[in-house]
Amino acid sequence: MTSSRNRPLWVGTSWKMNKTLAEAATFVDELLAVPIPSGIQVFVLPPYTALASVRSRVPEDSPILLGAQNAHWAPEGSWTGEISMRMAKDAGATLIEIGHSERREHFGETDRTVARKAAAAVAYGLIPLICVGEPLAVRDEGGAEDFVRVQLQIALSELAPAEISQVLIAYEPIWAIGEHGIPATIDQVAPVMALISDVVTVAAGGPVRAVLYGGSVSTQNAREVLSDPNTHGLFVGRAAWQASGFIELLKLCAPLSGAGAGQSTIYSRTLPWTTTAALL
Ligand code: PEP
Repeated sequence: MTSSRNRPLWVGTSWKMNKTLAEAATFVDELLAVPIPSGIQVFVLPPYTALASVRSRVPEDSPILLGAQNAHWAPEGSWTGEISMRMAKDAGATLIEIGHSERREHFGETDRTVARKAAAAVAYGLIPLICVGEPLAVRDEGGAEDFVRVQLQIALSELAPAEISQVLIAYEPIWAIGEHGIPATIDQVAPVMALISDVVTVAAGGPVRAVLYGGSVSTQNAREVLSDPNTHGLFVGRAAWQASGFIELLKLCAPLSGAGAGQSTIYSRTLPWTTTAALL
């Protein structure tokens, strides 16, 4: 694919439960030392322990967006161990990842809690990055598209169309994620991305901010994944946990972004939303 995109290519990484403060600082310093290619919207989701320190390390005018990997829907209160959207924003988040399959599998996240969190994120002026994706057994039975459709419809059910148009979606088939993941082929990914595009277009009354693909993305398969016209970016785990790997991916993506090389700020931390009513 060449320069036919008319929107930024989103490329980001979640560090999951990795990195001490010192390791986080090393990553950020290495990333800041290279120009961010024009046309690529970079984001990094550190663990909460490192979010504020990473925020203070990234200059205000940097195009790199930061986010958190989860947050609670309630504005505050007696929720031991949880962090609210308001607190996440205060610590430096612009994005909030919601509904990653590991949170669904190990921490009781459901389609309903995803919906509540997406609405809470929007209410606090944060961009929800909503993760969807089917388990292997569902795919093997031919049910991937129906599964993802339902996940998405529930996830978006508490948002108004104008709010839906601001979200990021990540399609992450569970069987393709992590060290035991089987990298998906473009033939497996493309029909689900088309389905997601249809569902969100109907729900939002137009396109959403971006739909990303995640699951064993690396420099080996990034180009192929991005050849799909409904894929507007990459959500990367292991291959981007070292700054050098992330930078390599960004360089590979630069000519696919529609903007060529060079450095520019393409997205502001000032979000277009006004805060809507508190949710709870
Ligand atoms: C993920 O878990 O969201 C992910 C994309 O991980 P990986 O790239 O390591 O498969």
